[in-house]
Amino acid sequence: MERIVRKSLLYKSGLGFWCLNHAQGCSHGCRYPCYAFSMARSYGRAKDWEDWCRPKLVANAAELLGRELARMRRKPDAIHLCLTTDPFMRGQPEMAASSLELVGIANSFGVPCSILTKGLLPIELADRGAFPADNVYGISLVSLDEEFRRRWEPGAAPYAERVAALRALREAGRSTLAHMEPYPTPNIVEQELLPILEEVGFVDSLYFGRWNYNRIVGERPGADEFYAERRKEARRFCRGRGIAFEAGG
Ligand code: SF4
Repeated sequence: MERIVRKSLLYKSGLGFWCLNHAQGCSHGCRYPCYAFSMARSYGRAKDWEDWCRPKLVANAAELLGRELARMRRKPDAIHLCLTTDPFMRGQPEMAASSLELVGIANSFGVPCSILTKGLLPIELADRGAFPADNVYGISLVSLDEEFRRRWEPGAAPYAERVAALRALREAGRSTLAHMEPYPTPNIVEQELLPILEEVGFVDSLYFGRWNYNRIVGERPGADEFYAERRKEARRFCRGRGIAFEAGG
């Protein structure tokens, strides 16, 4: 993996929470499209799609995080990994090692992390000695159809492996999250929501959100009603299983 050096790492996002992105680019190459890529291209941080899909690791991320947290009088309630890249990109062991190191550093300051990936969450994250804070380990999951994944999330981990890694952490007693966004309309893929919910029925919390930034969704008559129904279905499912539920617009 290529490396870059940054001047700072931690920042408060426009969404109101603290986060860090210790790579520039993402080899998952999602085609929803990827909002992070659109932003990176418009700010000149990614030349083109190929450049985006060849992520560059922030070489001094651990040093920066330790220094920034040590300086803060009021520590963040939590740090999110990541908004503009993926902390456990498939087939990028250096990225995964860096992510584990950063979670360990945040936890050593008493700061929990929330993690979201379309890759594989490593079982090392179950270790309470190395990761003592109440971290939340999450995967993005909007389908179980591998054809859909190859079309829309070509570099990401296969769904069954993604879910198995999450389940292993839940079985080890860690807090888990399923993030169902961007959920596709039937003109993108024909599927039922219930089997997907059941696949992750063991999680502690679930987030459901619609597909944005793509005109295909608007081409489906009744998209708003479709999403209102699916949202209700997800809420009902979560209530029945005692899963904390949240939905986006
Ligand atoms: S995993 Fe996230 S950051 Fe990476 S390409 Fe997909 S949408 Fe973009």
